[in-house]
Amino acid sequence: MENNSSEKLKSELEQIDSLENLTALEKKYLGSKGKVKEMLKGIGKLPPEKRKARAIVIQKEAQVIQAMLTAKRKILTAPQLGKKLKDQAENLDFQLPKIGHLHPITQTIRELNNFFEEMGYSVMEDLELETDEFCFQRLNVPPDHPARAMQDTLYIKEPNYLLRTHTSSIEARVLEKYSPPLKVVSPGKVYRNEKVNKSNHFVFHHYQGVVVLPEVSLKDLFGTFTKLFKRLYGPKTVLRYRNKYYPEVEPGAGVDMQCFNCKGKGCRLCKGVGWIEMGGAGIIHPQVLKMAGIDPNKWRGFAFGLGLDRWVMAKYKISDIRTLLGGNLGYKPFENENTL
Ligand SMILES: [Zn+2]
Repeated sequence: MENNSSEKLKSELEQIDSLENLTALEKKYLGSKGKVKEMLKGIGKLPPEKRKARAIVIQKEAQVIQAMLTAKRKILTAPQLGKKLKDQAENLDFQLPKIGHLHPITQTIRELNNFFEEMGYSVMEDLELETDEFCFQRLNVPPDHPARAMQDTLYIKEPNYLLRTHTSSIEARVLEKYSPPLKVVSPGKVYRNEKVNKSNHFVFHHYQGVVVLPEVSLKDLFGTFTKLFKRLYGPKTVLRYRNKYYPEVEPGAGVDMQCFNCKGKGCRLCKGVGWIEMGGAGIIHPQVLKMAGIDPNKWRGFAFGLGLDRWVMAKYKISDIRTLLGGNLGYKPFENENTL
C-alpha cells in the first residue's frame, strides 16, 4: 500500500483546485493521523531485522509526498503572489531622487547652440585670459581710444594681459585664424571690474556670433534675431532696435525685447521701461576685417554679442544676478507682477 501512496496522491492532486482542499489533502497524508503516520505505526508489527529497512522506505516515500504537495501549493499560490506583488508595486511611491539639474546658464547656452547649429553655425570657445591686442586693438579700439573707458578692465599684467571683457575677443581670434566664409558662435565668461550688486557682477556671460560672407546686411542680422528670440521666448515676442555705438561695427544696433512680464507697461523686471536690453550687434567694421587679413571689398560680416545673464534672468524670472553664481538652491524666482 505504501508504495502506491505517492501514485495515489498524484491522481488526487490533479483534482485539487483550491488551497483549502490542498490543506485537507496534506492532513490526510502527513497529518498526525495521516497515512505516513499509519505506515510508521505498522513498523512495530514487523520482525526487528526488517524494521530499519522499512523505516527508510517510509521516510523516502514521505519525502516524495511532501515534495509533491509543496509543488502543488506553489502552483496554487502563484496567481495570489502575482496579485500581491502588483498591489505592492502600485502602492510604491515612484518619486525620483533629487539629483539636481543643469545650471540655467548651461541650459540656455545649449539651447542657443542648438539653434545656431541648425542654422549652420559652428560653436567655438577661446581664451579667457586675453591680450590687449585681441580684446581691444583688433576690434578697432587702439590704446588711446575713449571706448576703453566703457569697459573697466581687470588686468593680470599691465599693459598687455587681461581677463577678456567681452567675447568679441573670440570674434577677433576667429577672424584671425579662419578664412571666410564663416559662421561661428561662442559662449563664454567675461570679466569686468564691477561692483557686485543686484544687477552687476564682475563675472558674467556673453554669447558672441560672427558671420562673414560675400554679402550680408542688417536684414540678415535682424532676421536671425527674430527667429532666435521667437524660438526661445515664444512667437509673440516683440523686438526693437536702437542705433548704438560699438567700435567694432558700423552701423551698430542695440536689440531690446519687449518685457514679457508686463507687456511693455513697465515693471520691476524691466526696471519700469517696458523693454529688456538683450545685446548689441552690427555690420563688422571694414577696419576689423582688414586687421584680420580679410579683404573688406570682397567680404562683409555681421557680429552680435548677447548678454547671457540677462537672457537667463528674463527667461527664469530671476531678479538678482548674484543668484546665478551663488549656491542658494532655495532661491525662488518671483512668481507674478504683483510681487514685483
Ligand atoms: Zn516689465
